[in-house]
Amino acid sequence: MVLSKTRMKLYWRLWKNLRVNAGYYFYLLGRRQSTRIRKILKHGRMPTPRSYFPTKLNLRILYDCNLRCKMCGQWGETGAYFAYDTSKRNTLLEIEVIERILNELTPRGLKLIDMEGGETLLYPQFETLLDRMRKQNLYVKFVTNGTLLDHCAGAVVKSGVTSITVSIDGDKDTHNQIRGSNWAYDKTMKGLYALREMKKRLGRNTPLVQIAFTMNRHNGAMALRNLCRDLRGKELADVLEIKLSPIFIPEQAEQAYINLVKKYFDVDKGVLSPGGFRDDYSDFVEEGYRIVKVVSALKKEAFDFLLEPLPHIPLHQIPRLYADYSWDLGRGPCPVPFDEPTIDADGNVYPCNLFTDAPLSMGNVYETPFLEIWHGSNFMKFRGMLMDQGGLLPICNRCCQLTEY
Ligand code: SF4
Ligand code: SF4
Repeated sequence: MVLSKTRMKLYWRLWKNLRVNAGYYFYLLGRRQSTRIRKILKHGRMPTPRSYFPTKLNLRILYDCNLRCKMCGQWGETGAYFAYDTSKRNTLLEIEVIERILNELTPRGLKLIDMEGGETLLYPQFETLLDRMRKQNLYVKFVTNGTLLDHCAGAVVKSGVTSITVSIDGDKDTHNQIRGSNWAYDKTMKGLYALREMKKRLGRNTPLVQIAFTMNRHNGAMALRNLCRDLRGKELADVLEIKLSPIFIPEQAEQAYINLVKKYFDVDKGVLSPGGFRDDYSDFVEEGYRIVKVVSALKKEAFDFLLEPLPHIPLHQIPRLYADYSWDLGRGPCPVPFDEPTIDADGNVYPCNLFTDAPLSMGNVYETPFLEIWHGSNFMKFRGMLMDQGGLLPICNRCCQLTEY
């Protein structure tokens, strides 16, 4: 097989990034394939209490966002954050509290911090935050809509951040329509150009730049093809992740989850976040076949970025991914509540990062040391509830934590 010049340049770029971040990729591989926790859970057993600590920490550093994307579970058409009052919407997870948690967890094996929002780059002390985390020798990644990236590209590159994910949902018209703004696409592209130039100027091979395209009913297969063509030859991204299915939860599954948490936690009000993802894609089969065709064709083209369809399933199964919510891809049991907690901007701790409703908080880091919460009775009850259901909850089947593992 003869590699095209484009491919050779891409692989060389990725190789240079891999050399700098080899430890990070080893960590990711280990998590996917052979974690001790995953093996224990697969045997239907619970790991010994107090024998496990987080290796990855999700931090929702703020709730606020400068966009209102249609499909967003937080600020979209069915978004859960609209129910928050102004003071909660403006809350920031304080740097001092984050540092205290890192001091607890880094000696116990924490490796990776994953930051999200809202829009992460709206966090006023974002550069300081990156510096403090990198000083603890942690791998750091964050997700952004990219619209503010041009202002801070230099700081991001200099900080040595490991990876950044920029979400783009199609060509300019489609993306702007989904994002609810006529400037979003151009601003995001400007940010990507700034990042590319800064990496070149400083001679850096990090961060790895990933673009996340989420296939949903507002864009579709042709928007993906057009985006690939728009990006081609510009060296703006290292990887284009094609999230083949959005996170969605049919109403029945949402209700089953609400009944379940009522039974285990006696909570019947304020469980709003699953409703933020309420949708049903059983009507998407025809588009599913179109997606198979387009993705198969794109995979044969030589782009200057890697195409990574997620989840890793044979492409012919894509229509089923949308139409059959009961299909769990054989991915359970979910190890996330044993390995990857989420801390929300208000300090509440949750077992997973999509379903963050205050009545189901496991505890609050402004009041209690993190490890007390981690080993505490609420967390143990949640893990027990999960395992009683066979390792997956009714709302789990299209959760990205599960499908992208
Ligand atoms: S940019 Fe992200 S957080 Fe903001 S509205 Fe869009 S999807 Fe939601
Ligand atoms: S798969 Fe389920 S338990 Fe695991 S992170 Fe997602 S919602 Fe949480």
